[in-house]
Amino acid sequence: MSLELATNVQYIKGVGPKLGILLGKRDISTVSDLLNYFPRAYEDRRAARNIASLKALEVVSLKAHILKISSIPMGRSQRRMYDIALKDSSGTIHCKFFRVPYKGYFERFPEGSLVRVSGKVIVYRGRLEFHHPDLREYEDEEISDIVTPIYAEIENLSSAKIHRFIKTVFENLSVVAKGHEKFPAWMLEKYQLISRDEALKKLHFPEPDESSQLADFKSPGHRRIIFEDFFWLELYLAAKKAGLEKEQGIAMGPAGDMTKKLLASLPFQLTGAQKKACREVHENMRRPTPMNRLVQGDVGSGKTLVAFLAALQVMESGYQCCMMAPTEILAEQHFKQAQKLLEPLGLRVGLLTGKTKAAERNQIFQDLQEGQIHFLLGTHAVIEDRVEFVKLGLVIIDEQHRFGVEQRGRLKNKGESPHFLVMTATPIPRTLAMTVYGDLEVSVIDEMPPGRTPIQTRVVSETKRPQAMLFMEDQIKKGHQAYIVYPLVEESEKMDLKNAVDEYEKLKLASPHLRIGLLHGRMKAAEKEEIMEEFRAHRLDVLMSTTVIEVGVDVPNANIMIIEHAERFGLSQLHQLRGRVGRGVAKSYCILIHSHALSEEGRLRTQMMEQTTDGFKIAEFDLEMRGPGEFMGTRQSGLAGFHMANLVRDAKILEEARSAAFEVIHRDPSLKDPENLALRNELLRAHGPAELASIA
Ligand code: ADP
Ligand code: MG
Repeated sequence: MSLELATNVQYIKGVGPKLGILLGKRDISTVSDLLNYFPRAYEDRRAARNIASLKALEVVSLKAHILKISSIPMGRSQRRMYDIALKDSSGTIHCKFFRVPYKGYFERFPEGSLVRVSGKVIVYRGRLEFHHPDLREYEDEEISDIVTPIYAEIENLSSAKIHRFIKTVFENLSVVAKGHEKFPAWMLEKYQLISRDEALKKLHFPEPDESSQLADFKSPGHRRIIFEDFFWLELYLAAKKAGLEKEQGIAMGPAGDMTKKLLASLPFQLTGAQKKACREVHENMRRPTPMNRLVQGDVGSGKTLVAFLAALQVMESGYQCCMMAPTEILAEQHFKQAQKLLEPLGLRVGLLTGKTKAAERNQIFQDLQEGQIHFLLGTHAVIEDRVEFVKLGLVIIDEQHRFGVEQRGRLKNKGESPHFLVMTATPIPRTLAMTVYGDLEVSVIDEMPPGRTPIQTRVVSETKRPQAMLFMEDQIKKGHQAYIVYPLVEESEKMDLKNAVDEYEKLKLASPHLRIGLLHGRMKAAEKEEIMEEFRAHRLDVLMSTTVIEVGVDVPNANIMIIEHAERFGLSQLHQLRGRVGRGVAKSYCILIHSHALSEEGRLRTQMMEQTTDGFKIAEFDLEMRGPGEFMGTRQSGLAGFHMANLVRDAKILEEARSAAFEVIHRDPSLKDPENLALRNELLRAHGPAELASIA
């Protein structure tokens, strides 16, 4: 029977209903889905080698016996690191797999069994190893091609079988997927893309002379599919952005006298980067279209002030502002600062959090509606329905990654197209920011206020805790303050909390001369605030806490932080925590204490913390090691639909795809040209017309 792209996979010869269901579980329901199930590696028979002959960075494939399989848990998660020793007649080599989600994954290979391993040889600690190679049972080769595609097995459906089904599809597809091509011809030419049909053919039936490109995901077929993955996302973002630009917004006046006064009242000058960000924001808000801007800057780079200056311009133009922070502590801190800076100018600021009393609450609602409060700060309490403004001109969200897209939208709806400013201290790698915040303009604060000495970081094993404590006491004797941080992992929250409380009691007993406070998420808001205030006022020397201090807290006299169980934190999180120190002029320290048995991955990760205080580098590294999930859920980030693209590896293609997408929308904003019809249909199919007012 001849197959169409939409034909159910079970009608492919040899598949049938049972395998059809199995494939369906992996989202392979149609012939088209199967064609988009791409090989995850290629094996070049000519590259078959023996272990002794391997050299660093070669991509190879070889036959070997399993010598030993061992695994250790990683931190407290269910994930494990596997170390698999392989042996052939010439020598042995280890394969490492980090963060394998469950136990038993590799145990299916009996020791001594013959396997084929394919991958890149890397040097780790002076030794050759494979990290995450392709490892599978050695089959009597069914496919005799020189270069063989390797598909991820689907339960017991082998790579070779999957390949055979795909071959059947190619032989029986009615019009080998003609009409498959959605890209306009000029785009194929300009971006040097081969057609979709050609790409599928090359990827599923590789040509020997592309072997090394195939192994690196750099073949023309890969380029085409990766480009596509990015392009659809970017086209969506470009269309959305074009829609926003058509929206009517409020053109604010220029920054005026109040701004001058505020700047004059500061005991310091803005950094060059702050000035630049302010200029971008100010100019942006003078236009009659709503601003959608992300201000990105490392912890301590002074984002709050940039936000306040934006708010000031808006208030000077007669509009109200609202700023939402992720925690009460942070909201209160912002509020105090706003009071200090803005009330002398005759402006009124308000604070609304979960703990605001009913009477006060009602007063705030009323004052907002009468325009008596110019600037409302708070936690997500500000989203509440009863919060209504008369003239909302600007919405600011601090530490964006903690809020979902939906909350963003709800706040925006409190005004008629107010300007919108998001601030994040998570140094999102450029590639990720482009993808996730593609509809936002980005200002980067890439300079720290002067007079700060970089934080010195040391990673030590828990056996060195006594020395770390002595060092801390030394700093306290010099008049400084310290943080000690305990992780709270959701799955074992109770235990962790108990540990933190126990350690607190122990430390108090052992060091009666120190004034120690404890802060954790289970405490009442008022209690938390009291402890914070004590610490801020230097009535405490040490603040022990769980990760509630992660964001934004600012106590310049604190110059040392000890982080317990550092291996249980993500790098970006460690970096955020560490940013609480190094805010004053004194030299600052961060000591990461890890449990005695640290995995090699853990070692690599913590070493990174010693080597750099550049949040962007750390984030890049995190992205490489752990994928984008560390920064946000995959679904939220729109990365779920990729067939092949990888943000780290394919950053350059992402940029090209992005400029192609924006070019398309620029040339034909509503995608009306016949050559763009397929693009338009695909966008509407994937996102629906409600999301895409500009083209629907
Ligand atoms: P973050 O970017 O992490 O939100 P903050 O806005 O909290 O950083 O600023 C950190 C500290 O730096 C605050 O105490 C703030 O007053 C101070 N600060 C901000 N800008 C400057 C500057 N230009 N020069 C000196 N100190 C500054
Ligand atoms: Mg901040």
